[in-house]
Amino acid sequence: MIYRSMTNLHHEPNMTMNKEAEVFMKCLICESRNVLKVYSHFPGYIEGTDFEIYECEKCDAQFVSIEHLDYSIYDIIYSDETIPGYYRYIDYLKEIKHKKNPLRYISREESSYYPIDNYLADKRNLDVLEVGCGYGYLTYSIHALGHNVVGIDISEKAIFSAKKHFGDYFQVVELKDYKTDRKYDLIIATELIEHLANPSGFISDCANLLKVDGKIILTTRNKDYYDRKSVWKTDLPPVHTVWLSKNSFMHMADGKGLKCKFVDYTDYVGKKENKLASYLYMKWTSNKIPKPIVDKENKVNRGKSEIYLRKVIKTVIYFAPIRYLCSYINRFLTKEHDTLGVILSRKE
Ligand SMILES: [Zn+2]
Repeated sequence: MIYRSMTNLHHEPNMTMNKEAEVFMKCLICESRNVLKVYSHFPGYIEGTDFEIYECEKCDAQFVSIEHLDYSIYDIIYSDETIPGYYRYIDYLKEIKHKKNPLRYISREESSYYPIDNYLADKRNLDVLEVGCGYGYLTYSIHALGHNVVGIDISEKAIFSAKKHFGDYFQVVELKDYKTDRKYDLIIATELIEHLANPSGFISDCANLLKVDGKIILTTRNKDYYDRKSVWKTDLPPVHTVWLSKNSFMHMADGKGLKCKFVDYTDYVGKKENKLASYLYMKWTSNKIPKPIVDKENKVNRGKSEIYLRKVIKTVIYFAPIRYLCSYINRFLTKEHDTLGVILSRKE
């Protein structure tokens, strides 16, 4: 099920080599031509769709090639609370204003906000841009700390909610079309880069809006957490378009005069994570090819009993003493965390 070398590719009867793709496919991340197709007809998010998965030998990035992204898939994802992953954002929108320290609250809920909470702990009055702010609760939580912040997103619906709940510091616009005379101390994009058709261009657009000593903080699913031979252990395409490792970011940063640091998650134990359980699940599923998430009628491809069972298991493994103990044991198994936090800044 897993292909790494050309030899494997040629000997695998189910694989159809696409010579054209081999010749013309450039890495989306580092533009290297050393790109291999590692999986043909990988299942897509919606039943009946499939994608070719490519891997760059130079920067390790895996990616799918998509000319035009159809964002309507997000209307399905956000509107169904049984779909894993995204519905919780609506809960944050409703709850965050009742929290004393909103940023600390969401940082404990989600590992992707931890680097921002950490970074801002000793900072005051920064100019901050959040790209892909969705419903705006992270932008709000930074605003609540007294920073001068703007949130942008391509979703009109999300920005309408954000403005209604939090105030007028949001805009419906894509980063590449964002017009401003301002430069920022901090640009953040959590769990965004893996959704984009042109991740490398996105980093350049961020860098152009940065003050000389500014920082870009990004988070994404960490490819280094998984076995080196794994194929696409991230949300199914076209919801996710790239799967990146530290090496991918180092190549991307290097080509743009940026340097990168990676966030240390050793001491982080979020309310919704049990590091040992995640690690064992990752090992158990490392060779499994997933099922599409929604069927052709855009309904979730999961039985009620499976959804219920998942809830029960989560309640048990997220129980505080259990998750702290498990996370401690996990330190002996891996140094990686399934979220990758990246801090980019200009080279001196
Ligand atoms: Zn590459």
